[in-house]
Amino acid sequence: MELRNIKGIGEKSVKLLNNLGIYNVDDLIRNYPYRFDILTKRSINDERFFDNFVSDGIVESNPVVNFFKGNMNRLSFRCNVQSKIIKVTIFNRAFLKNNIKPGDVITIIGKYNPKSEVLTASNILLKKLPGGLEIIPVYHLCKEITSKQMKNFINEAINVGSVKNNIPDAIKDKYGFISEQEAIKIVHDPKDEKNLKLALKTLKYEELFTYMKKVRELKIKNEEHDKSYIKNIDLNKVNSFINNLPFELTNDQKKVTYEMLKDLTSDIKMNRLLQGDVGSGKTIVAFILAYACHTSGYQSAFMTPTEVLSIQHYQNAIKLFKDTNFKVGLLTGKMRAKEKKEIYKKLEDKEIDLLIGTHAIISDKVIWNNLGFVITDEQHRFGVNQRLALKNKSNTPDVLMMSATPIPRTYALTIYGDTDVSIIKTMPKGRLPVITKVKKTSELKDVLSRIYDALKKGNQAYVIAPMIEENEDTDYSNVYDLKHKFEIAFKNYNTQILHGKMNGDEKDRIMENFKNNKINILISTTVIEVGVDNKNATVMVIFDADRFGLSQLHQLRGRVGRNSLQSYCYLVSDKDKERLNIMEETSDGFKISEADFKLRGQGDLFGLRQSGALSFKLSDVRRDYDLLVKVKDDVNEYINN
Ligand code: ADP
Ligand code: MG
Repeated sequence: MELRNIKGIGEKSVKLLNNLGIYNVDDLIRNYPYRFDILTKRSINDERFFDNFVSDGIVESNPVVNFFKGNMNRLSFRCNVQSKIIKVTIFNRAFLKNNIKPGDVITIIGKYNPKSEVLTASNILLKKLPGGLEIIPVYHLCKEITSKQMKNFINEAINVGSVKNNIPDAIKDKYGFISEQEAIKIVHDPKDEKNLKLALKTLKYEELFTYMKKVRELKIKNEEHDKSYIKNIDLNKVNSFINNLPFELTNDQKKVTYEMLKDLTSDIKMNRLLQGDVGSGKTIVAFILAYACHTSGYQSAFMTPTEVLSIQHYQNAIKLFKDTNFKVGLLTGKMRAKEKKEIYKKLEDKEIDLLIGTHAIISDKVIWNNLGFVITDEQHRFGVNQRLALKNKSNTPDVLMMSATPIPRTYALTIYGDTDVSIIKTMPKGRLPVITKVKKTSELKDVLSRIYDALKKGNQAYVIAPMIEENEDTDYSNVYDLKHKFEIAFKNYNTQILHGKMNGDEKDRIMENFKNNKINILISTTVIEVGVDNKNATVMVIFDADRFGLSQLHQLRGRVGRNSLQSYCYLVSDKDKERLNIMEETSDGFKISEADFKLRGQGDLFGLRQSGALSFKLSDVRRDYDLLVKVKDDVNEYINN
């Protein structure tokens, strides 16, 4: 059901909700709180509660609002809390200014710093602390949608929408789960901790069960033997194409190419994950296979997670295939309708043999003449639904998934179903390993002089910071602040910033200018992590490197060292030296991933945290891995019965 059918939701709210990733009534119902605040009064003198402080208090002064760059603001006022006068600050709630006046009784939830006597609130309720226990669900919101509105929307959605029973009754009984409908109601309006826990457990199981069921379905489809799956590939043509490449394939590239050619010519559907470190040359392998499919009369689809990547691959493919009759097309969401129509037509007429694009290529409007091979790049960024949608475009699709994120085999098997895994371990010849150094902030001068050397030679540098802008809670480096500092240090060079809150066009423009060497230093958050290829960049500096997982650092480092010049990566941090030293010692993504796995308690699954396929709402594949395995068994048992 559409959002517009909900009482109180007009066109404007639809847009705002879309921005929060909510597109229909079901999304709204399942827009789970990301946190719950449990309201019971805590003593302001008890240090156990400083990080999770809750109390009511009496407002002492009119609030003052400060505005910062990037749409940020901070509201502060004095407040009498348990007879202590403290300062209360809260970010991005400027709109509360007129609702808070001296004498008001309010409830504050947040972090208390007894030294500075400042309470950094995560939430302020305009009422006295309730007597009994109260649990407050906290939602991701935007400026224009208040928590109250969100709750109203969700309540309406629950009333008109319907919740499917995804977990079979037998399994519910086995674990003592409640119905999905009930669980959802509880999560949005929890009355006590015990029921809330059970509701969350039920929904988490549901999430993993639904996922694993789809994975299982993919697998069953893949297991059928059928003669129609055999592709009659012209190996002579394929070999001659390989021999005419501008470089020689590495041994690993050759090995995996022939492995997969075998898949293509067999009578079962290919379902393979190709792993290889950044820069190991997976893309060319995919192109060769697409070419092979073409010699057998089939078209291929190549889906990438970002437009920048699509364009990059498209440009490379055009170059590689210029002397052949293999025709490559590009389709992205941003192209004009007329351009898109042309592409649709060409696809139907088989005037395109390989279509490269973003998820625009799974649109209903895309009709293939004879799709036979489906490639997804940076695999983990796509959801299982998107993969299925692309696959369903063909009766005989062979599937190649590529990932630069090294995932141990057992994980790959569970997460992607029973996929075959091929690995490229060696790098193309002539690449120098990136020299990596951990530097203390007091040694920053070494880093700056290396950047200076690189810029003087006409090369470029990436600078990464964990935060976009200043934030009172942390003293981690931020992009805006670093831009300011780098502009002073490198006056004659062009320094620009890139971060996730910028709009798409702006991001593309910055990337384009960086690729064309119009920008010398690019200061960015981790948005540049995936796949960006600027061969001319030779220095990567990561501030507060201790903030990142090793695999993520490895991905970031992979942005440099893409030509025959010596590249450098600096990890700036005063903490966590032992862990960061691993980066100095090895450039083997698999080793790094394993070390990461051992060292980090939770979170960042091989850098997959914000990724599509694995971005569950409630679960974390790594933390909940044991549960995932259990769910997998349950699914198998359920499907076999
Ligand atoms: P990946 O997708 O695995 O990160 P790419 O396929 O983008 O890596 O390859 C990185 C770069 O190396 C590309 O510019 C590609 O043309 C080049 N390349 C690929 N294979 C070889 C090879 N065998 N020898 C030399 N260069 C190669
Ligand atoms: Mg790649």
